[in-house]
Amino acid sequence: MGRLSKIKPADRTTGVEYAIRDIVETSKQALSLGLDLIYLNIGDPVKYGFKTPKPLIEAVYKAMLENQNSYSDSLGIPEALKAIESYALKKGIKPIDIFITQGASEAIEFAIASLLNPQDNILLPCPCYPLYQAIVSKLGIEARFYNLSEDKNWEPDVESIESQIDKNTKAVVIINPNNPTGAIYSRQTLETIVEIAKKYNLVILSDEIYDQFVLDEGVEHISIASLCDDVPTVTFNGLSKCYFSPGWRIGWGIVSGPKEVLEDFIEAIHKLARARLCAPHPFQYAIPVALNNDNGYLKEVIPALRKRRDLIVEGLNQIPHIMCKRPSGAFYAFPRIDIPGIDDLEFVKRLIMEEGVVVVHGSGFGLKGGANHFRIIFLPEEKILEEALFRIDRFVRKLTK
Ligand code: PLP
Repeated sequence: MGRLSKIKPADRTTGVEYAIRDIVETSKQALSLGLDLIYLNIGDPVKYGFKTPKPLIEAVYKAMLENQNSYSDSLGIPEALKAIESYALKKGIKPIDIFITQGASEAIEFAIASLLNPQDNILLPCPCYPLYQAIVSKLGIEARFYNLSEDKNWEPDVESIESQIDKNTKAVVIINPNNPTGAIYSRQTLETIVEIAKKYNLVILSDEIYDQFVLDEGVEHISIASLCDDVPTVTFNGLSKCYFSPGWRIGWGIVSGPKEVLEDFIEAIHKLARARLCAPHPFQYAIPVALNNDNGYLKEVIPALRKRRDLIVEGLNQIPHIMCKRPSGAFYAFPRIDIPGIDDLEFVKRLIMEEGVVVVHGSGFGLKGGANHFRIIFLPEEKILEEALFRIDRFVRKLTK
């Protein structure tokens, strides 16, 4: 028998990074030193005590008892597809196809994999939720980044979008409400993106997984697909965030736009869906219960979250060298750190090791040197957030003494 040689992973994995989880390694080190950690790094409401609504659990349990434990249809069960269609129509989207997936993550991957070849490029926001870079990197597609503009409350810089486009650009991704900035985009920005997509023949991929987390009265979440029946668009959503069940891995994609140009693209998505059989079958029964509820589950959560958002934003802005825009959506804030001689990664690692506050460095979302930020979650109760603010303040004062 020959000697075993070390297995070399395939090149396609080298560019795949997931900063949010990488920070966990530093946290483990801090834990082993006995530090009392405050985790403000995980985008999972359930980890912060928000409970999966009971009617959703009952629907899944009932489906399991009724032995709905086979594979389902690859695109999803009819009652869930119907509920997603009604939801889409309420948001002003005219769906021409819907597919249920293993989290929104899989829907995003299906759409990108069905659309782009390796010589093509896709426009991603910077900063960006890292899943997109991971998918694009794995598929060997070029990512081109457009800026989100901190000065304009993190709205996309539309000139920067247009400046990145060439003949190989196939799609533009928007994340609205945004991770990591918490921004909700204005109608005007969305309309300009629609115009750009029309002008250059781009498919719009719109990630709306936080669409019900709208924290300010007077702010409306607009699905970009509702503004453009004539532009091919895929809208992503799921049960993970707004319905507190991320571990169930239920998401979906809604295709809208001119049917005649979309047929082959839709069939390509269906092929990928068939090849992986189905999304978790019994969990799909929670979809109609979730979506037909008129969002009652979030009614009590939003005011509490608004208070926590205000606490974190005001608290951060009182700390010297930190500046934080007020997010209107999701549960993230993305403050800027302005301390000479320390970059965001060092800031975050030291904050974890010295004060036990776990946040994610901005460069983990694709922001390059010079623009120092971190992402902080405001899901925990106020007293935890107050303690975190106290420790961040103490740390910054120590650093800048
Ligand atoms: N899109 C965004 C912007 C996210 O923040 C997340 C999770 O944090 C996802 C997609 C993943 O969603 P899912 O759990 O449905 O795969």
